[in-house]
Amino acid sequence: MKTARATARRLGHDASSIAEAEARWATKGSASISELGDWDNCPLKHYLARVVRHQPEVPSHYLVLGIAVHDALHKIADDHVHGRDVDADRIDHLWEEAAADAGLLEHYPDLLGEGRALTQAGADLLADITPDNILALEDWLPRGFAVGQVPIVGRLDLAYLADDGAVVVLDWKTSKRPPALRPGSRSGAGPGINPQLGVYACAAQQLQADGIWPDGPIRAVFGMLRQERVIGLDLQDEDPARLRAWIEPLYGAMRSCRDPQPTPNRLCDWCDFQVACPAFVPLEPDLDVRHVVEQLELAGVPWPRIAAEALTVNEEGLAAILATEPSVRDAIYNGARR
Ligand code: SF4
Repeated sequence: MKTARATARRLGHDASSIAEAEARWATKGSASISELGDWDNCPLKHYLARVVRHQPEVPSHYLVLGIAVHDALHKIADDHVHGRDVDADRIDHLWEEAAADAGLLEHYPDLLGEGRALTQAGADLLADITPDNILALEDWLPRGFAVGQVPIVGRLDLAYLADDGAVVVLDWKTSKRPPALRPGSRSGAGPGINPQLGVYACAAQQLQADGIWPDGPIRAVFGMLRQERVIGLDLQDEDPARLRAWIEPLYGAMRSCRDPQPTPNRLCDWCDFQVACPAFVPLEPDLDVRHVVEQLELAGVPWPRIAAEALTVNEEGLAAILATEPSVRDAIYNGARR
């Protein structure tokens, strides 16, 4: 815990508030998918955000923009469900309100146009969904929901019945690149599915089994607002088992919170804690998959995790590296650590 506590102190927390925060964390009995994702991405970031609960004076532009767009889209979807007209003026109004509430107007006014465009992209996707087919809007996961032995709490952005009869669970994303759909597990549990989509798909499975949602194939997707498209996966028979294999050891590590170390990754540039982070290495803004691999390798990141990160940048680029550099491929598939 030496590194983590020292970083918390650099952010202004004293020893007694750190001890109090760690004791509070030890009594927590469930996890959200974003907590698990934070731990998987960078245990130090998880420790500072979730255990110590450090609040930066001004959250990153990435976070503020995401909150504002999600809020506006939730209200637009609510209008859509209730048959209220969602014209350009209404979208303007809801966006401006959400931007003010999230602090975007105050802290990042230059992002107002970008956020309005992302909101419009979401409104266009929503307009294609029949209002009567909407199954969930910012609803909590079912009470008592668990993946294997891990109790999970969280909300679903949106779920609906598609024209082909599939139950679609959608999560809005404002990021430039889509998260990898089937990354290798970063926690070393073997090849997996995207954890966030996997959790949503398992929740949909439970809601179907409980007779709350209609039967039908399950599709879990990201609504990629910058790309104005939906990408995702249909739930396969083996996916819940893969998800359990990923989540159970990860949850165990996260709960015990042993020695959370900084783990540089592609989200460092949006991390609220880089100012105090002992391992922050800035990546070039225009990410190239080979550059990402080199940077992560230099930072001593294990190979299975490098592969997962590289996949999120560019699948074709990673495939090319694997094809031309057998030692890299072997290191990834054998799970070797350098
Ligand atoms: S800057 Fe990167 S390595 Fe440091 S805490 Fe944030 S995510 Fe982790």
